[in-house]
Amino acid sequence: MKRLFFTLPLLLFTCCGDADHFSTAEKKRPPKGEYLYRLSNEHTFSLQSPIVQQRRQYPWEDGTIGHLSKITKEHFRCNGSRLNPERTITNDGQTTTLYDCGGSERHSLPMVEDKEHIYPILIDLANYIQQETKKKVVITCGHRCPEHNTYADPSKTNRYSKHMIGAEASFYVQGLESDPHAVVQLIIDYYSKHPDYKYDTAYTNFQRYDKDDTNVTTPPWYNKEIFIKLFKNDEGRDFDNRHPFPYISLQVRYDRETQSRVIYSWDKAHRNITRR
Ligand SMILES: [Zn+2]
Repeated sequence: MKRLFFTLPLLLFTCCGDADHFSTAEKKRPPKGEYLYRLSNEHTFSLQSPIVQQRRQYPWEDGTIGHLSKITKEHFRCNGSRLNPERTITNDGQTTTLYDCGGSERHSLPMVEDKEHIYPILIDLANYIQQETKKKVVITCGHRCPEHNTYADPSKTNRYSKHMIGAEASFYVQGLESDPHAVVQLIIDYYSKHPDYKYDTAYTNFQRYDKDDTNVTTPPWYNKEIFIKLFKNDEGRDFDNRHPFPYISLQVRYDRETQSRVIYSWDKAHRNITRR
């Protein structure tokens, strides 16, 4: 036992004191390396080749295309607001005061089978444009309830607008404001590339509408499903389109799901929204 008492401090002293064995001159001398000699295929551990892993999306990235938010039916909600001032218009000598609706806080989108509904092709095309251009689609007008439809554009030609049944949308593309024809071409391309459409000429062949009963000077384009209007920067200015850019309006003509034409009706516009 006595021997252990002597040996243990001696060992500790020896281990801890090694650094002090070097002279000051030796400590100042730069460390000297020694070459390791081995063959290139000699190794102690074998390393696996790294595999490139796709980064998993964060939960908040699910609804994005690149850096852009995906377009959903939320982007199509009515722009009305009780904060908008009353408007006075004169039609055929009669003066009327218009009030805006309470906006999306006060009423729903059009209801179809108890669910809020926007025709899916409008959402799909908007997302396709974002995906192809990497630029933001700004929907200036999606659904308009009847009150906001009259408030935003009281003209006679707007009385049966498909905005009221969720079958029409106006938009421009940020960064392509001065090139709306490129956006129209993208929409046409969508039909020739998409597997659901590309074998059906009723969708891939676009025609021009050349009657003079529209409110645009550029003849619209149409296929079986949609009707495309291009508003120049001095056309189609209404309360929802007070920006200085040309814009595009898409109207749904045909519902592929129900295989029927999409037509405005008073019932669909007025009775298909729930009010809060
Ligand atoms: Zn509204």
